[in-house]
Order: sequence, then structure tokens, then C-alpha cells
Amino acid sequence: MRSWLEVNLKNIEFNLNQIENLTQKKAIPVIKANAYGLGSIEVAKYLSKKKFKLFAVANLQEALEIKNFGLDNKIFIMGNNDKDDLKLAIENGFSITISSWDDIKNLEKLKTSKEVLIHIKIDTGMGRIGFIPEDSDKAIKHINDNKLGTIQGIYSHLSSADENEDEFTLEQINLFKKYEGMKDIPFIHILNSPGIFKYSKYTNTNYVRPGISMYGILLFDTPLKKLLKPVFTLKTKVIYIKTLNNNTFISYGKTAEGEKGDIIATLPIGYADGLDRRFSNGGTVKIHGKKCTIIGRICMDMTMIIIPNNLKNKVGVGTEVEIYGQDINEKAQSIGSIADELMTRINKRVSRKYV
Ligand SMILES: *Cc1c(COP(=O)(O)O)cnc(C)c1O
Repeated sequence: MRSWLEVNLKNIEFNLNQIENLTQKKAIPVIKANAYGLGSIEVAKYLSKKKFKLFAVANLQEALEIKNFGLDNKIFIMGNNDKDDLKLAIENGFSITISSWDDIKNLEKLKTSKEVLIHIKIDTGMGRIGFIPEDSDKAIKHINDNKLGTIQGIYSHLSSADENEDEFTLEQINLFKKYEGMKDIPFIHILNSPGIFKYSKYTNTNYVRPGISMYGILLFDTPLKKLLKPVFTLKTKVIYIKTLNNNTFISYGKTAEGEKGDIIATLPIGYADGLDRRFSNGGTVKIHGKKCTIIGRICMDMTMIIIPNNLKNKVGVGTEVEIYGQDINEKAQSIGSIADELMTRINKRVSRKYV
């Protein structure tokens, strides 16, 4: 195996249970973007046997990909659907998001004998899709009066819960308060991962939508991090190793020069696998828990590292290398990114290994 992503499915379930215990709210696991790169089909297959009532994805295509694994009638599409997707989503039994009067118009035009399961999206400050709170009552009334479907849920999304934005986030939460009392609506939800770990006590919603945290990662520091177990590690193996007998340029563009005596290992992973090219010349990986530095530019399929003195004689062809694990967010920040981006960019060429 060239490079692989190890995924611990049990720990995903463990983390979800921790989240439910912490918040005293039920979880809608978010498995969009191929379950943040970890493999939505495997994650869905595993979790479908558990107690979860609903799973969230971003769009119809993702919903269709995972439909057949025990999740029928349990998939909720959080994004907007155009009128063709809307029809297909309803025919497939998915829960849909209604976030505008255009959506409502599309619903009205649609003829279907299927039950239409609706989550109303409210924009409390994200500035993305969603009814503004002043408009939502009219929309809900219109849907109910015209029997356009069953309002199964009502939700909103926090924009800045992992930043130092208490005041703004609490404003968002307060704007959502008026929906918390709608007892005939089964799913009321606003908290994403940072919301779950920072603002749970300020809401009376009954559901939460954890994404990154169910995969063991949080983008901010909190002592509550220890509630989560690690879920994944991106790994590869040394495929080539040499000791330089001269000063030698390494990789494209001569951006780095190895010195006589340096031990250079080649790894079969590159930016086409999802190893971000910005880690060229300076990014690190781990061998036997010790850091090794990437030298030269990351190539499409390969990457070179310098073997440090403390690993001399401990590395050969076949030695396992950790690309990223629990340090993924720290690494992401060093190149101006976030863990989510690095995770979702792990390419399909990297095999997924489930434990
Ligand atoms: C992605 C997403 C989530 C999950 O967010 P995390 O911060 O990863 O927990 C929740 N809700 C919506 C609407 C999303 O798009």
C-alpha cells in the first residue's frame, strides 16, 4: 500500500456519545464531503446500525451516494437544491432544506405523492442561505397553510463559534431562541462543533450537528478536547533512501540543497494525494514519533524528507511515516488553513483502512 488513511470507526461513535452526554442533546452526525475525507460510505454503514435518527450531507449527490446503507429516510441535505435536485431529493425520501421563497415556489410547482420532509433554515448571522428571522414566521405559515410538506426541523448555523466572538455568537443564539419553543417540530438545531463545546448551555435546542469534532478534532483549544478520541491518521511508507555523497539539489526547481552525508528518504505521497504543496521545504512528518523535515518541493506523487540524526539506522525502505494525525490543525494553521481543508483534500488515490 502506498499511502493510506487509517480510520477508527468505533472512536467516531465514541466521540458522538461524548458529544451527546456533554450537551444532553442528540446528534445529527455530519458526513458531508465524504465524511470530511474519511469515507462517507463506511462511516454511514457503521453508524447506520446505531441509534442516530438523521445524518447530514451537503447536497443531493452526496445523499445518493450513501443512500443504500441503511440510511434510507435518514438523510438530511443541508445545502440548497435547485428544482431538479429538489424533486429527486424528495423522491428519494431525503429531508430537504428550505431557505428562501424561491425554494418555496419550487416546492409549490412540484407534484409528488411522497412525504416532503422540510428543515427550515434561518440566517442568524452567517450571511449564507436562510430566511432572516423576521421573514421566517410567514414562510412557516405559508408552508403549513398550503400543505407543502411536514416541517421536520428548523435550524441555523454559527459563523464564528471557534473565534473569540462570544458576543456575536450569543446574539446568533438569541436570535434563534424563538424557535426553541416550537414543540411540534422534532429537530431544532443550531450548534456545530465549536458551538457544542462552548455554547451548549445557552441553548434549549434538542439536536446538535457535529462534524469535525466527531472525527476527533477541534479547531480551538479547550480542556474539553480530552473528551474526544483520535479517529484518523494519514500514513505512508519510505520507498527509497539514500545517503548523499555530495551536496545535491533536491526536487523541482532546485529550491533546496542536501549536504554531503544527509540521509534523504523518498515518500510515495504528493500533492495529488492531498499533501498540501505549501508544506514544501519546512513541513514535518513523523517517524517513530520523531519529526522529520520535508526538503524541497512536494511533487505530485512523491515527497522527500531528511532523516535526522536521532533516527539514523532506524529508517529503511518500508518504515512507516505519519503524515498527519492529531497535529493536523496545528499543521494546517502553519500554512494558513484549517484541519477541515486538509482532511477533505485527501485524495481517493489514498486508500482508507478501517479499524
Ligand atoms: C459543515 C456543517 C456543520 C458541521 O460543522 P463542524 O464545525 O465541522 O462541526 C454543521 N452545520 C452545517 C450547516 C454545516 O455546513
